[in-house]
Amino acid sequence: MTVKHQLKSLIELQQIDSKIFDTKRILDKIPLKISEAEKPFKDSEAALDIIKQKLSSLEKKKRGKERQLDDINEKINKLKVRVSEIKTNKEYQAHLKEIESVEKERYSMEDEILIIMEEIDNTSRQTESEEANLKKQKDKIEVLKKKLQEEKSKVEKELMTVKEMRTKIVETLDEDLYNQYINLIESCNGLAVVEAENEICQGCNMNIPPQLFVELKKNDEIINCPQCRRILYYKNNK
Ligand SMILES: [Zn+2]
Repeated sequence: MTVKHQLKSLIELQQIDSKIFDTKRILDKIPLKISEAEKPFKDSEAALDIIKQKLSSLEKKKRGKERQLDDINEKINKLKVRVSEIKTNKEYQAHLKEIESVEKERYSMEDEILIIMEEIDNTSRQTESEEANLKKQKDKIEVLKKKLQEEKSKVEKELMTVKEMRTKIVETLDEDLYNQYINLIESCNGLAVVEAENEICQGCNMNIPPQLFVELKKNDEIINCPQCRRILYYKNNK
């Protein structure tokens, strides 16, 4: 195979490897995209947990107060029964006072229960709206996941096709040249074959000496950039 053909193969190989590199980058980013989308969902889930805990502690508190209210009511009933045992007016006045004081306790307990019930109402509403919000977020994530999954399958298919093309090209290349190419790919950030556009190496931006550029224009030998060692080629656009 002529050098001209080898160079043509190298250019194609570089295009394919750049494509493979980009494709792999797209694939690598997919899990990150999913976890980024899931982050606010997980935060909301944690927030909902806190609200639910609050709700359950409020309900527990309410049950406690209701038991206390039952005790107070029982106390009042017992006091009222005892009224028949009272003999003197003085005793009667004291008894009334006692009932009054326990009733005050009852009112304040009832108020406390009402306040807690209001809090329970608010917290329940908060729970419901947070649950609806979570559901919405979850649906959105599912849509995104499906989209990304489709993208992944498509890209993986493309990758397979491109890899098959790559194998065919590599088969046409001289082993030494291919090894040189691979070394450059590794040492030059994935870019081994570059155009010398306007007498400038597109890999390192160095000016190519005029004499070398004349040689390069012929495209019939492998010429490396004097600066970055990348394989140069000249594209005749005219
Ligand atoms: Zn260069």
